[in-house]
Amino acid sequence: MREATDTANDPRRWGRGRVLRAIRQAGAIARVDIARQTGISAATVTALTAELLSEGLIERIHPEDRAPDAGRRGRPREALRLRGEARLVAGVKVSHRVITVLLVDFTGAEIGLHEAPRAEIASAPAVLADAIVAATTAACARHGRRLEDVSGICVGLAGQVDGARGHVHWSSALDRRNVDLAPALAARAPCPVFLENDANLVAKAEQLFGRGRGVDNFLVVTVQHGIGMGVILGGELHRGARGCSGELGHSKVVSDGALCQCGQRGCLEAYAGGYGLRMRAAEAGLKDMSVEDLRQAEAAGDPVAIEVLSEARQHFARVLANLVTVFDPELIVLAVEAEEGHPLCTPEVLEQVRQLSLSVDAPPTEIDVQFRDDRMWAEGATAYGIERVEALAVERRPLGQSA
Ligand SMILES: [Zn+2]
Repeated sequence: MREATDTANDPRRWGRGRVLRAIRQAGAIARVDIARQTGISAATVTALTAELLSEGLIERIHPEDRAPDAGRRGRPREALRLRGEARLVAGVKVSHRVITVLLVDFTGAEIGLHEAPRAEIASAPAVLADAIVAATTAACARHGRRLEDVSGICVGLAGQVDGARGHVHWSSALDRRNVDLAPALAARAPCPVFLENDANLVAKAEQLFGRGRGVDNFLVVTVQHGIGMGVILGGELHRGARGCSGELGHSKVVSDGALCQCGQRGCLEAYAGGYGLRMRAAEAGLKDMSVEDLRQAEAAGDPVAIEVLSEARQHFARVLANLVTVFDPELIVLAVEAEEGHPLCTPEVLEQVRQLSLSVDAPPTEIDVQFRDDRMWAEGATAYGIERVEALAVERRPLGQSA
């Protein structure tokens, strides 16, 4: 990555990044502990933190404000923490019917949420770009801020999105293919705009704030209307040569099988995604069933629900087992948009994954099922937005200058 190379070539920038990261990870930390954790000399830490203090990125905590257990014997040390007001970040998720904007401060603390309805599912690029910026403006107004206060907007979109180029190969949110959406957004916003596949953002959130902290190789599989995946390899988000990596929902499970929303046949999503389950159930006579309805019908012994869900579980378990065999990850997080329980994420499915994966005499891949609400997408966008805004602050890029 460009940022990584630049940072490696500039020791001062590298040091600023390391110090900020140490402070973010600790929450509050004394200079001496920053030096110990980063291996940077105490004198350099003092110089770098003085710089970060003068730029307003961090602030001092007076010893008496710290929790009692944080104190040590002798003279209490002054601790440092990130200054929340230093930056305002907007995380945006574009769904079929709504644009969700989550505003957070530099520490990641929530400032407020705003939802703006969408008039149509597939929009023209200019219409979608206008709607995203209008929703962000409205979110700011609702929570006492201005769009000009925002340091970075990160937009998550379902589909084949090349985040590094800000290019959308295909998304159900757009009425055409091959759209340079990030430049269209940047032309309308007074701050840098980052665009990324929505499942990649959920993976970034896990890496920065969740189960993936400190884990070099892990996968996040999102289960919702569709089935997505974010791949973290060697600590980096793996995007693939064209930015389309991780389209797990469109891996093929049946030759010439059910029609998928991508236009091809036999995709995993067409059997196990929310819309696939509904479609399969409707074809077999169970109309207008939500995934939760299907789960309850199965529990009540309905033969159609039993058949549709058992077919979906078999496909899902095989694909997960193939992921274990291909990637050998330390961890797979199943991020499931459901209140409690999901028919695809049962102990039987996890046991089947274990049986179908190649095994060695070492601890197996951990599979962690997490039930989330629909905020997980916007939260993912804010996590990555914070990382990118922090990187710009480390570079001392003036506010308002495009990325
Ligand atoms: Zn497909």
